[in-house]
Amino acid sequence: MSDSALNVLQNTFGFESFRGFQGEVIREVTEGRDALVLMPTGGGKSLCYQVPALVMAGTAIVVSPLIALMEDQISNLKQIGVRAESLHSGVSLEEQYRIEQELFTGHLDLLYVAPERLMTEMMQRKLDQVRVSLFAIDEAHCVSQWGHDFRPEYLQLSVLKTRFPNVPRIALTATADKRTRQEIIERLGLDQARVFVDSFNRANIFYRISQKKQGKQQLLRFLEKEHPEDSGIVYCLSRKRVEDTAAWLNAQGRKALPYHGGMTAYDRKNNQHRFLQEEGMIIVATLAFGMGIDKPDVRFVAHLDLPRSIEAYYQETGRAGRDGLPATAWMVYGLQDVMLLRQIQSNSMAAPEIQRIEQQKLEAMLSLCEVTGCRRQVLLEYFDEPLKEKCGNCDLCLEPVTTWDGTEAARKALSC
Ligand code: ADP
Ligand code: MG
Repeated sequence: MSDSALNVLQNTFGFESFRGFQGEVIREVTEGRDALVLMPTGGGKSLCYQVPALVMAGTAIVVSPLIALMEDQISNLKQIGVRAESLHSGVSLEEQYRIEQELFTGHLDLLYVAPERLMTEMMQRKLDQVRVSLFAIDEAHCVSQWGHDFRPEYLQLSVLKTRFPNVPRIALTATADKRTRQEIIERLGLDQARVFVDSFNRANIFYRISQKKQGKQQLLRFLEKEHPEDSGIVYCLSRKRVEDTAAWLNAQGRKALPYHGGMTAYDRKNNQHRFLQEEGMIIVATLAFGMGIDKPDVRFVAHLDLPRSIEAYYQETGRAGRDGLPATAWMVYGLQDVMLLRQIQSNSMAAPEIQRIEQQKLEAMLSLCEVTGCRRQVLLEYFDEPLKEKCGNCDLCLEPVTTWDGTEAARKALSC
């Protein structure tokens, strides 16, 4: 490891040592080679490009799919004295002008850019005139047409390889199933990249999945018993259920706030802020909530409805226990969820091939619900990471099932 990378880590970021293979990734990139980094949420992907950005001459260009994610990172970086800015649709013209001047005069360590902006000819001509140290493509699974974070603009990023052949590229994601991995490599032209895969095992998360009976009552019992004062996230499929559940939890004496795509940006931001600041706050959300949320002490993630895939389940539950302390991933699911998700899939305008893959993903999710062995083994198997021993930290390890009720119906519903 070069001295300067460790210096930057310690003096700028204030961390003692690199985590996992961060150091190796950083060496790969600073020596000018491409890298693909698969690391679970909260693993520390950002440093894999932020440290090189400070070690290497020139400006690092970071592609990120959400304005909120960019803004969050930039305000953190600025606080520690790193020269970082962003260009996206929310930046005023005057601001843009100022930022571009800083770029041209070599005064920026990192520039975060929305993909559609980066792909404009104008932006690329501007980059021709400056020294670009590296391209970082964060949330790289957005190139995957099979995933539900698909961003068509991400597909165009393949151009970077031919347009800027001498600039190393690093792509990062927490979605690691084989298909997505292969797609990222193909679509971004990363066949020369070294691939770094971190363990996806989140050993401190206890997994519990049960049949849905009276969902909200079951949730309340779980909260009373296991997390009477903790902060956590409750996921629901629809906006209406989010609103209802948040109101209901408040009526039961818990502090809960809704979060979904139908609320104004102001209300969403406000609720997110309160969730981060106030102790014991529960946020009830649709899938719109969570990407890039860095709250270390989320003690539980509860699903009142079935997620559409194991990737989604893993990502969402992965927001619990980032501080490494015990946390719970709790879920109830029922036949109705399966029917509803199937209906959403078949009503979508997606190509038949995509619908078929989505159906397979849903089936894999359902098999995680219905497994009788160890849940963690099934989960990690899905990510190509076999776990030899039973984990001892999931419902099925602690309370092995003897009977197998009701779920046969769900299976039949899926195969009809
Ligand atoms: P990811 O993008 O993989 O979800 P982040 O890059 O947002 O994860 O990092 C998650 C958290 O881990 C952040 O709070 C970050 O400061 C912290 N972190 C990352 N690397 C280290 C390290 N080497 N030492 C200590 N903390 C770290
Ligand atoms: Mg990240």
